[in-house]
Parts: sequence; C-alpha cells; structure tokens
Amino acid sequence: MVRKVSDGMSEFFGWFPSTIFENNTCIFIPNFANTCVFDTMEGLVIFDVPIRQFGQKTFDELRKVTNKPVRYIIFSHGHFDHAFGYDPFIEEIRKKGWEMPEVIVHENCVKRFEKYDTLDRYHNWINKQQFSSVFKGERSSIVSARKILDPSIILSNKKSSYSFKLGDLNFEIFHDIGETDDSLWLWVPQKKTICSGDLMISSFPNVGNPFKVQRYPKDWALAMEKMRDKNAEYLVPGHGRLIEGGENVRDVLSITAEVMHFVHDEVVKRLNEGKWFEQIYHEMVEIYPEKFKKHRILRDTYGSYRFAIHAVYRLYHGWYDSGNPTDLFPSKTADISRELLKLNSEIKYLKHASKLLSEGKMQLALHILDIIITGTDEQNKEILIDALKLKLKILKMKMKEEPSFIANNILDNGAHQIKARLYGLENSI
Ligand SMILES: [Zn+2]
Repeated sequence: MVRKVSDGMSEFFGWFPSTIFENNTCIFIPNFANTCVFDTMEGLVIFDVPIRQFGQKTFDELRKVTNKPVRYIIFSHGHFDHAFGYDPFIEEIRKKGWEMPEVIVHENCVKRFEKYDTLDRYHNWINKQQFSSVFKGERSSIVSARKILDPSIILSNKKSSYSFKLGDLNFEIFHDIGETDDSLWLWVPQKKTICSGDLMISSFPNVGNPFKVQRYPKDWALAMEKMRDKNAEYLVPGHGRLIEGGENVRDVLSITAEVMHFVHDEVVKRLNEGKWFEQIYHEMVEIYPEKFKKHRILRDTYGSYRFAIHAVYRLYHGWYDSGNPTDLFPSKTADISRELLKLNSEIKYLKHASKLLSEGKMQLALHILDIIITGTDEQNKEILIDALKLKLKILKMKMKEEPSFIANNILDNGAHQIKARLYGLENSI
C-alpha cells in the first residue's frame, strides 16, 4: 500500500523504531504520524492514533510493552493521520469487556469530522495529490471520515484546557490554533513531556499548505511559546523523531516561534505599506534570514517558508491579489495564449523556452512553454509534443532540487499528467 518515500521523508513519516523513555512509562511509536502512550498504574493514556492502515501495527508494538487497558485517547487534531487508526484498540476493549475509554477532542474536531463527511471525495482527491508519492495507485480512500470514534470529552472554545489524573500522573491538555483550529497539546509534568501533535513536526511548519484551508501563523508562534515555558525534557512531535533534552526542546520551540512571528510580522508590515502579493512574496524570499534557513527543524522537508508567506497574506487579504484590474475578470488562459501565438509562432516560443532553460531560467521557461501548451491547436501535434517534453524535462529538473515533499508531489503530479497526454498524442500520430 505504502511506497518508499525519499530519504528526507522517511524520518518525517516515522520509518524508524519505537522509543521507550522515562523508565518504560512513555512509549513513543512512530507510524506515519507519531503515537505516544503513557503507562500509569491505572491504565494507559494514548495521545494520537496512526492512520487507519497502521492501526494494527501500532497496536502490536504497544502490546509488546504493556497489557494494561486503554483508559484515555486524546486526539491532537482530527487529521486522517492522527485520529483514525483506533480499531484494534476498541476491538480489544470489547473482547475483554473493559470499559470504553474517554476520548478527548476539541469541539472544532467534531465540526471537522462533519466537514469531512460533506467533502469526502474532494479531500480524497486533494490528499491523493499531496501524498501522491506515498499512496501511488491507492484506489481506496485515504481519508474517510464515514467512521469515527465518538468523543466523550469535548473541549470548547470557551474552556481551552482540561486536566485529569490517572495513576500518579497528571495530564494537562491545552487548545491552541496553528495547523488547524482543533489542535490540542498535552503536558505531563511528572514526565516532563509535551506531545505537540502537528504544531511541531520535523520540518518547517505546515502552515501554508497549498491544498488546505487557512492556517494560523501568529497563534502558532504563541502556542510554541506556551510550550517552551513548560521547560520540558521530552517533546513528542506529530511527525519525526522524539526530541530529547531540555535545551533541544527549548531550542526547537523558540526558533519555530521566532520564524512564525517573523513571517507574520514581515508580511503584515508590507500589507500596511500597500504592497500586493507578488511584491511581498519576492521580497520575503529575499529577506529570509540565514539562521532560519540553516536550522534543522525548519528545513523545507514538508512545509515551506515560501508557502507560509501565502498563509499570512491569505489570513488578511481577499482574492484580488495583483492590484491589476486586468486580473479582476480575466479571460481564459487558452484564449490569451492563442492571441499571443498569432503574434509569434509556436516554434519561436519553443526556441525561446530552450534558450531560457540553457540560461538556467527554468521558471521563466515554463511560463513560455505554457503559451504553446495551452494555446496551440491540438492538431499541431509535433510542436505540442516538443513543448510538453521540454516541460516534462524541466519539471523533473525542478523536482531534483525541490526539498519540500508537498511541492515535489505537485511537480510530480504535473509530470504524470504530461506523460499521460504525451502517450495519447504519440499514439494518435
Ligand atoms: Zn500529521
């Protein structure tokens, strides 16, 4: 089902062994996303379950370590990789006649599950693009919220924290918004451990995901600062390896808070200066400080600083983002391209795109090629095939130097569409 992903991503998706820490009482099980289990005298507290396909694997791992009953399940948020792999745990509870566990979520998680039900096929379609290199050929739904575990304790927006005690451990749950509006994070003081969910991942935060709804950079920074002030020794991120040691934990939380403040405040400053998106974006790329670029936790492994700029802009701005009235009610791209092709032949554009590529201007070459690809007559097969082949070559070149998994999959999807079109065109000659 799941294919091999690039080396940079294998750590992000948890292809490494489980870790047991704090005298065998904290069990960290990575499987795509991370699960952390706290073993108390009165039973287990589970923070996040994996994707549905890995539920059994995580369950088996846990049962190698402890046989105690599950008493609490906390969902950091309702994404498919954190809240759906619960089946084996519930089956065991039913078989053994144990009491059902408390299931703790935020009220926006309940709304999220309702939204998934409404937009089931759409979410499946966008997730197949975002995760295309992992789920290639997967026919079944990646996300299906048709079946969910009913929550028993729901945190509301009015009361954004909740505490309980099990055995001799205190569990303090907090709500903050960041990647989602339903985020919960956990602080276990006796174990000096924070479980952050996707508020911390082993990558630049997934704050400006190109496929997904609005996310919250400033609030994300504030959540990081709240976590930092707990002075934890262990940080269980939503994805990636366990972060150990007070200094390391403090460092990753501080730098993430800092970069989120930076991207937020610098975009806001430019909005206040009356700048439009294109100018803001290119200026922001120019001024990105080296200390963020170089920090291991802020690598563009999954999310990207470039996406984060969009996130802040979209948080405050409408969809009219160019400041050019031409763009208010634009013509179809194909019609514009056809007019440009009346002024200059396809072959001229093709030669110019090749020249740009030879000068290392890949992005500009793509724009020029798109004039041919979108504007030329379908009968004009040979030139269309040449343009598509050149675009395919450029997309592959860009993939080689693109660090972000999400960006890479977008390029990869584009490359596959071109291959399919080329196949059709070449077979019809
Ligand atoms: Zn996740």
